[in-house]
Amino acid sequence: MSTSHGTFIRVDVANDARGDAELAKRLEEACPVDIFAAHEGGVEIVEENLDECVLCRLCLDAAPPGAVRVVKLYDNGAVLERV
Ligand code: SF4
Repeated sequence: MSTSHGTFIRVDVANDARGDAELAKRLEEACPVDIFAAHEGGVEIVEENLDECVLCRLCLDAAPPGAVRVVKLYDNGAVLERV
């Protein structure tokens, strides 16, 4: 699990999903506030945009269950994830 966090939001991407270039593209397209950046080697989290997260869950819908988790640091670490 790879983790990046801002003040209010943390995003975790499972290690086996992080290097998936196709998934990276889907995440980049899905997120309305550009938290995911696609590279040939996979997905990178754009840390300066993390706190712009609007909790829309589009990244969760774009990824297989368990691949992406959005953690609300301001809410006792409540987790958004696809089940
Ligand atoms: S929940 Fe929405 S705004 Fe937040 S990281 Fe996922 S796609 Fe981006």
